[in-house]
Amino acid sequence: MYIRLSREDGENKESESIGNQRKILQRYVKENNLCLVKEYVDDGISGTTFDRPSFNQLLQDIENKVIDMVITKDLSRLGRDYIKTGFYLEDYFPKNNIRYVAITDGIDTYIDSTNNDITPFKAIMNDMYAKDISKKIRSVLKEKQKQGEYMCSIPAYGYKRHSTIKNKLIVDEQVRDIVEKIFDMYANGHGSVEIVNYLNLNKYLSPTGYRKTGLVQDENKTNFNWNEVTLCNMLKNEVYIGNTVQNKRSIISYKVKKFRTVDKEEHIRVENTHEPIIDKDTFEKVQCIIEKRGTNTKLKYDYLLRGLLYCYHCKRKLQIVLKKNSKRNAKSHPYITCSDAKERGCYPLNMNYEKFEKHIIYVVKKICQIYADKEIFYSIYEKYQNKTLDIREGYKKKIEQIDKAIFDINNNLDKMYIDKLRDVLQEEDYVRVSQKLSSERTKLNEQKQELQQKLVVTEEKIETKNQTKEEKELDELIENFLKLEKIDKIYLYRLINKIEIDKDKNIYIYFNFSKLNSINENLDEFIKIEEIINEKEKSLKVV
Ligand SMILES: [Zn+2]
Repeated sequence: MYIRLSREDGENKESESIGNQRKILQRYVKENNLCLVKEYVDDGISGTTFDRPSFNQLLQDIENKVIDMVITKDLSRLGRDYIKTGFYLEDYFPKNNIRYVAITDGIDTYIDSTNNDITPFKAIMNDMYAKDISKKIRSVLKEKQKQGEYMCSIPAYGYKRHSTIKNKLIVDEQVRDIVEKIFDMYANGHGSVEIVNYLNLNKYLSPTGYRKTGLVQDENKTNFNWNEVTLCNMLKNEVYIGNTVQNKRSIISYKVKKFRTVDKEEHIRVENTHEPIIDKDTFEKVQCIIEKRGTNTKLKYDYLLRGLLYCYHCKRKLQIVLKKNSKRNAKSHPYITCSDAKERGCYPLNMNYEKFEKHIIYVVKKICQIYADKEIFYSIYEKYQNKTLDIREGYKKKIEQIDKAIFDINNNLDKMYIDKLRDVLQEEDYVRVSQKLSSERTKLNEQKQELQQKLVVTEEKIETKNQTKEEKELDELIENFLKLEKIDKIYLYRLINKIEIDKDKNIYIYFNFSKLNSINENLDEFIKIEEIINEKEKSLKVV
């Protein structure tokens, strides 16, 4: 007797239950005066595979000639893969002199009946059923993922399953602070190798180790070390900001239990499904650093500014390439270039990188020094803020004026139309004047759009109350940056958003902090103030 039950049979389908299969088989054995040698049960194993423990035992017993007959309730109990089911029915069983009976399908290989002839078709039907069910199970899974239910078998490090709500995550308080520490270190410029070393030196168990042993830290640990892959996956996982992203892997076929990675667009993302451990700002910052470090982390030598440089015209990333000097034996120098510029109608730039880097470092340091000196900074910054407020008011007024002018034009057009209807105005004149007014109106609308864009840019420069956190962070960052003997890439990435270069080699630095941008835009004025203050100090000393 061979009995098999799996999830594709449906959870509550009583007719396929093990008890029911057994009843039918036992009745058959009794009615046909057969001698029952053994009962083989595979519980929870799909019919699409033949690699099942009890079925393997059954084959073993056939080879050892312990049994000479196999009965199942129906053909699908034997298997749902029609190729392999066919192999057993038409090849393996006959060769081993095994009589096979599928009771409810009326199949009996010892009796020559038409039922046996349609067996291959039954096998195909069973196979298609498995395919269909596999699709259904996957669509139910996807549906649950879309509801934000956490369907992965193992919760991410830092989370555990809710004790009563199915598929819901809660923070694992035991390791919350370790997750926080990891993100914090990375966001503050520590590299992944450094963080892995820190975790291992302090005897923290890897996520796998923690899952297996329940220990967060173990003085005597010998394995379960952290590695960079685990760490990077963690740093990129949105689970830590409260989002559930699933469907990252998908099964290739219901027959072959292999997975493929799914394109990012097809991932199922649901936001705010559980409590976040990491705030969104920190997470964003970490993603920025990961992206900018890129895959080049293993390069022996990397240019300090690689990844920050963009073409002012086409907005693409600029390349740094080595160019041999035309003189023989001359050293090759790195050049900045907009790649394939000629083919794409852009400018090739060809700018000496080394000089450029020196210049940028000088300017960035200068700006940071000015910021760090609060006396200099605030002497102009407030003026600058006021100036910006004035500019904003100016834009707003101009937009109002344009609105008024457009309103007037519309009114005039309406009046003219009525005059034309009353025959006060000649058709010819009406066309001429209304065309003139319409084109005027179009011009005004264009002006308005331009002003509105400028207004948005200006609004961004105006300090909001929400910036105290930014200020504290910036103070710390700049203090550390100015202390550095050798410039660290990570600090530059945190300070600078991007640097654009145009065809005339003008350089535009965009900082991540509005205050630094405001210094950059008024640099000359700031430097003047700095000089005046320095002069004052000098003269005081002389006195
Ligand atoms: Zn370009």
